[in-house]
Amino acid sequence: MSIKSPSGRLARWALQIQSFHPKILYTPGKSNVVADLLSRPVHDNKEFVCNLNTISIELPSRRSRDIREEQMKDEDIKKIIDCFESGRKDEDFINWTSRGYLMNQGILYRYSPDTESEEAQLVVPCHERERVLQQYHDSPTAGHSGSEGTYFKIASRYYFPGMRKFIAEYVKNCSECNRYKPNNQKPAGLLRTPIYAQRFEILAIDLFGPLPETPTGKKWIFLIEDTSTKWVELFALEDATAQNCAKFLIEEVFLRYGLPRRLISDNGTQFISAVMQQTCNFLGIKQELIPVYHPQANPSESDLKPKLAILVGDAHDTWDEKLAMIRFSMNTSKCDTTGHTAAYLQFGRELRTTDDVNHDLRSLIENDNFVAEITPYLKHFAPLTPQIRERVEQKQDQRKKYFDKNRRPIYYQPGDKVWVTLHPKSSRSDKRSKKFYPKREGPYLVVTNRSPTTYDLSDPSSPDQVLGTYHTNMLKPYELPPEKNTSPVVPIKRRGRPRKHFPKAESSSGRLQSPRGSL
Ligand SMILES: [Zn+2]
Repeated sequence: MSIKSPSGRLARWALQIQSFHPKILYTPGKSNVVADLLSRPVHDNKEFVCNLNTISIELPSRRSRDIREEQMKDEDIKKIIDCFESGRKDEDFINWTSRGYLMNQGILYRYSPDTESEEAQLVVPCHERERVLQQYHDSPTAGHSGSEGTYFKIASRYYFPGMRKFIAEYVKNCSECNRYKPNNQKPAGLLRTPIYAQRFEILAIDLFGPLPETPTGKKWIFLIEDTSTKWVELFALEDATAQNCAKFLIEEVFLRYGLPRRLISDNGTQFISAVMQQTCNFLGIKQELIPVYHPQANPSESDLKPKLAILVGDAHDTWDEKLAMIRFSMNTSKCDTTGHTAAYLQFGRELRTTDDVNHDLRSLIENDNFVAEITPYLKHFAPLTPQIRERVEQKQDQRKKYFDKNRRPIYYQPGDKVWVTLHPKSSRSDKRSKKFYPKREGPYLVVTNRSPTTYDLSDPSSPDQVLGTYHTNMLKPYELPPEKNTSPVVPIKRRGRPRKHFPKAESSSGRLQSPRGSL
């Protein structure tokens, strides 16, 4: 790469890899014990195509030097940094430390004393506050959340004095929000109590539309919301038919998160019952399901409309392209009823945004001189982490042992049922791929064992007719499914007192060991 004016093949190579930042290391042949694709000489055989299918890309992140430079432009932040770097442990220093400030690699961070966040917050200089707000309020993945939601997203990552007020002002004056969002007057009505259910146990579904038809013919949005976590899925539909809805429900939701116990909707029982009927048809469930009208069911439609409107702007027929971003923004916004984001309740952590990848605050924690005790959250988890790691390693060892064990040979008896392994070949003309063929066929009946490793097999329906002789490595025991309607198991009655079960030697120091027994 350091050649001044490369030409020919070297130049072409340089052009191809210049968009990456590869690190080229020289490994002497003697120490290169695991030769891989890259260390092989170029193959001249034209038919041999070598596909590299693992490519790893590290997303670029902001350099700490740049962050520091920006921080130093802010007078107030500079004062704190200077205090920390002067080395004086005076009154000011104690004051800043007690407020959760700390320095790491020349950058000022802060741990909020009142949140349970495990992450440090980057202290944002005055002139960058607007940019942070744009990122977490205006950007498509942020989707113009309300002031509380925006504050929550920013507060877990950034800090600046008077943040809550600043954010509230910003959101209040956001022109997009003002243009599209309904006013904040609470609707008159009954208090909504949260539904306590397992994740994806009760799903609320709704239809939103008709919207301007997109170039792909989509007119409706089908909303599915998990009532416990408020996780939202959105799908663009051509027609608002129950059949379409049922298809999405099954393929994109049931088969990914499991079947719910109940489907609910505010959209009238007719729509629901039609969807339910279609769903049961698809799933082959014969049982008649009676939908229950549930007044609490109303997927965040009020939330969806303004978000959609803002994102779509003037191009009203491209709304379907924005659905995924809206879904992301809905699932990462703090919900009023649960007090968390849907993502947090679903995965136990927040979803990373592009900004998170750019400013990896986590690297702070991995730094050597980091004091875990400084955050209330980590104080709790610090002793747990090594324990968890140890346990994971232990489990991995166990699994390895299990896999490394040689399998014992299996012997079959005449009358046993077995699977026979197939070796199918793909056929292009039949449009059939080997990959989709069954691996085994069966059951077949063992007629005789010619040797401990070879068996004559027959079809169970005509046991006398030998189909062929098979080697044991092509066979697999055919386990019978448990038979239904067998007589109930009767417990075996023993006379006298049941035998005492003595634990093994290592725990024999307990009270079971009598002085007489140890003689
Ligand atoms: Zn806004």
